[in-house]
Amino acid sequence: MATSQKVDFFIVGAGFSGLVAAERLTQAGFSCVVIDKREHIGGNAYDCYDEAGVLIHPYGPHYFRTNSARIVDYLSQFTEWHPVSYQVKSFTQDRYWSFPINLNTFEEWLGRESNELEWQDYLDAQKVPIEHPQNSEEVIISQVGWDLYRTFFEPYTLKQWKRHPRELQASVCGRIPIRLNRDDRYLTDTFQAMPAKGYTALFENIVAHSPNLQLRLGVDYAEEKQHWDYRHLIFTGPIDAYYDHCYGSLPYRSLRFEHETYSGEELAARLPISEKAGYWQPAMQVNYPDLEVPFTRTVEIKHATGQQIDVTTIVREFPEDWGPGKEPFYPVPTDATSELYSRYKRLAEQETNVSFIGRLGTYRYYNMDQVTGMALNEAEKLTQRYQSTPELSP
Ligand SMILES: Cc1cc2nc3c(=O)[nH]c(=O)nc-3n(C[C@H](O)[C@H](O)[C@H](O)COP(=O)(O)OP(=O)(O)OC[C@H]3O[C@@H](n4cnc5c(N)ncnc54)[C@H](O)[C@@H]3O)c2cc1C
Repeated sequence: MATSQKVDFFIVGAGFSGLVAAERLTQAGFSCVVIDKREHIGGNAYDCYDEAGVLIHPYGPHYFRTNSARIVDYLSQFTEWHPVSYQVKSFTQDRYWSFPINLNTFEEWLGRESNELEWQDYLDAQKVPIEHPQNSEEVIISQVGWDLYRTFFEPYTLKQWKRHPRELQASVCGRIPIRLNRDDRYLTDTFQAMPAKGYTALFENIVAHSPNLQLRLGVDYAEEKQHWDYRHLIFTGPIDAYYDHCYGSLPYRSLRFEHETYSGEELAARLPISEKAGYWQPAMQVNYPDLEVPFTRTVEIKHATGQQIDVTTIVREFPEDWGPGKEPFYPVPTDATSELYSRYKRLAEQETNVSFIGRLGTYRYYNMDQVTGMALNEAEKLTQRYQSTPELSP
């Protein structure tokens, strides 16, 4: 029987959580192995060039943003940045709308010019008085009333989650701003930028900066763990899978992506629909709220990456049930799933040498900056704990 290799930290998952933790721990002098069942690093933030040479995000578009100088400083060691203001539109009733909802949307709604005063009066008349919104329907109708909610939110949410907004926690729709002014930026974080050479290049630099790191790609934890003798496990995969789904499976929504590439001539013919030469659509992301349209959004990531290339690739996103062979993309934020997750969390709290971090490890929709912060904190905690113990390997 082959002997197992000794290592301080065994890390499952080569996404932001796993690789950031590995970089910090190896810099502190520990040895780490990072494994991933996928054949590449980067987790869901992985990007690559398609056959036409367009830089794409195969697991859905990833718009980096943060309000944390600490996260920007940390990640800036591994990448330069391409600043970007992420733009989204909505397409329904045969036309594009300014989105998130703002004064421009209201003018499009009225079909004439207006002002903040009239917009505010409209909202005051329409909104449903609910002091403490309890779900995603209430959070929106309490701000804009039924008409805008039924146009832009209700069908989109039903399609995306296959659940009514009433069944989803207020945070799901509540994270989308409603603005009185003409600010149509999708996000308002102080730092909004894409890694200048892409996410995969950023991850490669993290790996290159991790002196005592071994990477094993295309291997599953269940099989790989027997080959390693480790002091501590950092698990960034699904927490319920770690416990063999003993309380039942935590549900996810999955996605199917359809990519379409267009030549320079096709793009020229598309003006003025795209409004911008060399692009297929007028903004990086267009939402399709109507239920009759089977996809939720089209993304032309070239708007955000700033890649200078004649051709373009757009991606249509089709929400799907999650099941065997499908990627667990979005944890489903309902009260029932929170309750189920807290049962797994109680098991996790009893572990002495296992940490669960990241989006799947904590069953929560975290953004990239948030999981980076979580990994930095965990690595700091583990460094303090294991640096004070003389024997690092068991
Ligand atoms: C469609 C979509 C769009 C998103 N858009 C944005 C955005 O615009 N901005 C933003 O900030 N965030 C966005 N996110 C969130 C972002 O993807 C996450 O915050 C981040 O990637 C989480 O990193 P992670 O390392 O925790 O998890 P992941 O990236 O999911 O990495 C976990 C890794 O663990 C591996 N793994 C799991 N189980 C096992 C096992 N048993 N054995 C071996 N390996 C295993 C997986 O293969 C995976 O590679 C988006 C997410 C999705 C799904």
